[in-house]
Amino acid sequence: MLTMVKFHLELACVVLLATLLTGCLEKKQMAPDDGEAVVPVNKSTFKNHDDEAKVIANPESIPVLVNKENILPESYQPNDLVEPDISFIFSEKSEKRKMRAEAATAIEKLFAAAHADGIALLGVSAYRSRAAQEILFHYYVSQDGYETAQTYSALPGTSEHETGLAIDVTGADGKCAAEDCFSGSPEARWLEDHAAEYGFIIRYPRGKEAITGYQYEPWHLRYVGKKIAADIATRGMTLEEYFKAIPVSK
Ligand SMILES: [Zn+2]
Repeated sequence: MLTMVKFHLELACVVLLATLLTGCLEKKQMAPDDGEAVVPVNKSTFKNHDDEAKVIANPESIPVLVNKENILPESYQPNDLVEPDISFIFSEKSEKRKMRAEAATAIEKLFAAAHADGIALLGVSAYRSRAAQEILFHYYVSQDGYETAQTYSALPGTSEHETGLAIDVTGADGKCAAEDCFSGSPEARWLEDHAAEYGFIIRYPRGKEAITGYQYEPWHLRYVGKKIAADIATRGMTLEEYFKAIPVSK
C-alpha cells in the first residue's frame, strides 16, 4: 500500500512538476488562484485542520460542501471528468481543463451566453487532483513555512478544485487572472448577474469572508446546479449558509 502511494506520488510529481511548479512561481506573486488567498479570520480553526475536519460522506454529490471543516476523502477522484469545449489562458493539454460532465456542459453554455452578450471569457484553472494540490501546498510550505502557507493555500482535500465542479475564469485579455483587479470588470459583473442561470455560484462573495474563510473571489465559479444556484443567488447566501453549516466563530 505504502509502495503504491509512493509510486503514485512519484508519478504525480513527474507528470505535474513542469506545469505546476512553473505555475506556482507565477501564482505566488499574483494572489494565487490555487491558494484561493485564504483570509485568516479563524486561524485557530485551521491550525488543527486534520483533527477538526470532517471527512465528506458524499463527495460525488453535485452541491457537495467542501471547505476547511469538510474535507474530501483521500481516495476520492471524480469519475466523470471531461474537457469542456471552452478556451483557456493556456494552450497546453492539462488536467486543469477538466470538469465533471454536468459542470462541463454548464460552463460551455455559460461561456456561449456571455459571448452572445459581448463578454469574452477564458478559463484559468478547473480540476486539480489531490496529488497536484499536495505538491502545490508542500511547495508553498517549503517557501513560506506551514503557518504562512495555510493562510493562502488550501490544504489538500479542502480545495473545491479537487471536485471538478469549480473553475476560475477571467476576461479575454488574460489580465487579472485570479487577481483582485478582476473585481468590478464587465466580466465579473456579468458573472454576478448571470452565473446562477447556468447553475454556478460566486462561491466566495464579498462580505462573507468570515463565513467562507476566503477573500472575495469574483473569478471562482462553483457548479451546484440551477435550482440551488438560483436559491443562493436570490437570497444572497453562501453554500455554507445554504447548508446551515456556518463554522462556529471563536
Ligand atoms: Zn478557484
